[in-house]
Amino acid sequence: MAEKAILFDTSRCTGCHACQIACKCWNVLPSPTRLNENTFSGTHQNPPDLNGATRLIMTYSEADGALPNKPVAWAFGRRSCQHCTDAPCASICPSGTLYVHEESGMVTVDASKCVACHYCVTACPFDVPRYNGMQGKVNKCTGCVDRIEQGIAPACVSTCQPEALSFGDRDEMLAEAEKRLAMLKSRGYEHAVIYGAEEIGGLHVIQVFKYGVEAHGQVLDPKVSPITTLTNIMKPVTGVVAGATVIGLAVMFGLAAGYKRDKLAYNAETEDTISLETGEVIKHGDGQDTESVKEHITCNLPIGKKGGDHE
Ligand code: SF4
Ligand code: SF4
Ligand code: SF4
Repeated sequence: MAEKAILFDTSRCTGCHACQIACKCWNVLPSPTRLNENTFSGTHQNPPDLNGATRLIMTYSEADGALPNKPVAWAFGRRSCQHCTDAPCASICPSGTLYVHEESGMVTVDASKCVACHYCVTACPFDVPRYNGMQGKVNKCTGCVDRIEQGIAPACVSTCQPEALSFGDRDEMLAEAEKRLAMLKSRGYEHAVIYGAEEIGGLHVIQVFKYGVEAHGQVLDPKVSPITTLTNIMKPVTGVVAGATVIGLAVMFGLAAGYKRDKLAYNAETEDTISLETGEVIKHGDGQDTESVKEHITCNLPIGKKGGDHE
């Protein structure tokens, strides 16, 4: 299977939300109806942001000065996973929960492995993975690899009526994006641009922004955080240290087990420890009687009668 990609052409989007709902339906994700109760601010964006049960939202922004005869226009956006080639979420995930689906290049999820460390949440330059407190797992778009493996497009793509969303081989999606960009430029949309060809090693969601990157609410020039890079560099070192600790513990366990296997006896009179097998004294007692031990302890007390009766 060739590398795949979703193409999102903002110039064809009508902001109908159908993709968002299809994602919920296919992935059996709940939709709390009162999420916007205290936050509604006059926008069609609902819910206001991604959450533990919402893998995709459409965003609604206004683009100023779009064309001379069109001073304000809708700039629809798609907030979801970008399926980065050099996916920092997958490289930092210690449990293999987030991983690159080899056949398609999509960055998918095996939630059963999630240990809720939140590393992916901090590593993603697009602020995508969300923690689902009810499940104790991280949630994000899986790329619908369960559908791709059956030869069908992701649910969000299949449902889009004006074909703002398409799915296919990544090379073909990039070529199609170039055609649509040329068409927009020819109509005077001078800020129109393709997004996803190179960012973070190349994304598997290619977008054609009619009014420019920022107008559609997307991250301009996304970067992998230096902390993520450092953590990945340190992985072999921390692996060696962890390995050395395990080996050290194993050696100590072996020695301790060997010691326990010796049959020992204790002579209360001499306070010596003796091997029952060889009769050798393993450890000599100090030969002190109870009274002298008590005197030694009393003399060394930090408070009380220290030294008084005995100096
Ligand atoms: S690819 Fe699948 S999981 Fe991802 S946003 Fe589309 S429908 Fe949702
Ligand atoms: S957009 Fe974020 S969650 Fe998606 S692959 Fe890239 S780093 Fe991972
Ligand atoms: S289904 Fe298509 S037209 Fe409707 S909001 Fe999603 S991308 Fe836009």
